[in-house]
Amino acid sequence: MTTSAQLFEQACRHIPGGVNSPVRAFKGLERPPVFMERAQGAYLFDVEGKRYVDYVGSWGPMITGHADPDVLAAVRERLDNGLSFGTPTAIETTMADLICEMLPSIEMVRMVNSGTEATMSAIRLARGVTGRDKIVKFEGNYHGHSDSLLVKAGSGALTHGEPSSPGVPASLAEHTITLPYNDLDAVEQCFEEIGDQVACIIVEPVAGNMNCIPPQPGFLETLRRVCNAHDSVLIFDEVMTGFRVALGGAQAHYGVTPDLTCLGKIVGGGMPVGAFGGSETLMSNISPLGPIYQAGTLSGNPLAMAAGIALLTKLRVPGFHNALAQRVDTLCHGLQERADAAGVDMITQRVGGMFGVFFTRQSRVDNFAQATACDADAFRRFFSAMLDRGVYLAPSAYEAGFMSSAHTPEDIQVTLDAAEQALAAMQKA
Ligand code: PMP
Repeated sequence: MTTSAQLFEQACRHIPGGVNSPVRAFKGLERPPVFMERAQGAYLFDVEGKRYVDYVGSWGPMITGHADPDVLAAVRERLDNGLSFGTPTAIETTMADLICEMLPSIEMVRMVNSGTEATMSAIRLARGVTGRDKIVKFEGNYHGHSDSLLVKAGSGALTHGEPSSPGVPASLAEHTITLPYNDLDAVEQCFEEIGDQVACIIVEPVAGNMNCIPPQPGFLETLRRVCNAHDSVLIFDEVMTGFRVALGGAQAHYGVTPDLTCLGKIVGGGMPVGAFGGSETLMSNISPLGPIYQAGTLSGNPLAMAAGIALLTKLRVPGFHNALAQRVDTLCHGLQERADAAGVDMITQRVGGMFGVFFTRQSRVDNFAQATACDADAFRRFFSAMLDRGVYLAPSAYEAGFMSSAHTPEDIQVTLDAAEQALAAMQKA
């Protein structure tokens, strides 16, 4: 049997760090990443045959569990017709109609191939329509790896200690203004000073790339207000929150409407898909209707559309998101109980189908400074002990956890039993 350790060694020969995306690398965990062979429902199975209850869900898309039979069937049905035509197809219109119906702030939508492309294109659109260069983002928010957005970023950029990457020209990075998340005064002050130069604010309406940090009351509303006052574009990056914190995303959950929305992950059902959209007025500036260029050889690919449509359709069953949030509640309450019993300083935060675990004495975590002040070593020990006990959490203290509808009460119980042992082991160490 080939082990993960052997496969990792082989992978490192020709793949930088042995991985095709840095968050997979188990940075600082002093063990090789686990190589998975297959997945089913709530479980991942590694190359050595071990089963894990999975709370990563391919970083979000697998909201109904892995290898969802309806999603697979939709892809299979299309497969023999060919993989990609580079022409319009009817299924792209079906997808666009569906997105516009589910997210009423979107009247027109353009499909792309990743979350990175979605945010990069939305920023270009905002800059193009306003004729302004400056953009405002928040510390620890991650919007993919395009140049303008890789400034004080979260996720792997943060885990790997490079939140502002070398290779981003200073002349471009200087247009990105980074403010503390949930800091209403900082937003007000920034817009008082230079609001009329700001093309857009881009925000994760629930921050999921520095663990899980909900917006404080009034935060998203303040963003909406200052954008209105200064004719700046408000972009919600709902790549993670879209179709997860509620059917209509964070914008439905919090009742704040952005001008542009970026989507990814769930919208592709596990295939490489992203999307960005907004009002017809704004989106009409995109090529070929308008002058702002945006394109993609594989964009709107029929297999990807089939997977995404099949998944989105399943989420429309009444009560789906309530049930998902209920599962997250059960998990988080259970984890809290066990941490308290073990005497470990730990809290959880959650919104809908996403959650986070923080090793801290703070009663809540609202921003990057507080998130990075948590005990990273405690997280590493907890992660490792959970992995040994068959629970796969995101391998970083700066990532959210994702629940799926395939997680049964028994799976959650298995997780809580593992946590009880893991927390006890941490106390002994
Ligand atoms: N925005 C957010 C909020 C994300 O979480 C991510 C990916 N985790 C992205 C954008 C980038 O998406 P992708 O990895 O598909 O490029």
